[in-house]
Amino acid sequence: MTFRFLGTGTSVGVPQIGCDCPVCTSRDPRDKRRRCGAFATASSGQTLLIDTPPELRLACVEYGIRRVDALAITHAHMDHIAGFDDVRRFNTINGRKVPCDPSAPGANGRTFRVEGKPMPCHALPETIEQLHRIFPYISAKGGENGLFRPQIDFIDNTAPFSTGSMNVEAVRVEHGFPCCGYILRDGGASLAYISDCHAIGDEEIERLRGVDVLAINCLRVREHPTHLSLERSLGYIRRIAPKKAYIVHMCHDFSHAQWQEMLAGTNVEPAYDGLEVKL
Ligand SMILES: [Zn+2]
Ligand SMILES: [Zn+2]
Ligand SMILES: [Zn+2]
Repeated sequence: MTFRFLGTGTSVGVPQIGCDCPVCTSRDPRDKRRRCGAFATASSGQTLLIDTPPELRLACVEYGIRRVDALAITHAHMDHIAGFDDVRRFNTINGRKVPCDPSAPGANGRTFRVEGKPMPCHALPETIEQLHRIFPYISAKGGENGLFRPQIDFIDNTAPFSTGSMNVEAVRVEHGFPCCGYILRDGGASLAYISDCHAIGDEEIERLRGVDVLAINCLRVREHPTHLSLERSLGYIRRIAPKKAYIVHMCHDFSHAQWQEMLAGTNVEPAYDGLEVKL
């Protein structure tokens, strides 16, 4: 499988609005951190999008993402879902052309219309409820030609699911809010993605232990009530013992180069937007 980081920044992004700090004004492209999301391609070709951050459209255009077979949401904080409406584009791409009468009202002379294909969207039951509340029009009934709303098939992620050859399991984590990470397994390789959390339970650690690659939340060095700080991230990385770890969801306290320096000599690296991991 391949795994691409679409964004690696904290909820306000880096650079943050109106900040002149050295990281926000850095010329290193790795210091431009969009809000977190990820895109995984199974060895069988099917793809999974994890989260729909506000810059989803820009990331999909930049990295040439045109196929999404399934969507998995970590939690309903806005930095992970505010690009949710852009799923409409994948409804259309995945849809089919249906012949129609060009003289029919609304057809505007067209001989076909596109019938969007609903997107399977895996999430915690609480997250599904929150998404319905935040975007009440998702479940509204629309006109036949209307692709005004994302068409979504919500699926409780409590049970494991698969996208092609990739098997996916949700892992509940503590973030002061209903939230999960995901373990992806494909052809003997495994990767866990935990973008947001401040604690991981012992049972969940057991399930995560020994993954090949771990992408884990690390906001900054100072403690934070709902995110992992460096010391706490490193503690979980030691316990989970992946071959390789990447930190994500960083704020503007440190540049990519500074993170690299701090993590030198470990199996941990800062992720950056666009980084693609093949395993
Ligand atoms: Zn977040
Ligand atoms: Zn700044
Ligand atoms: Zn969050």
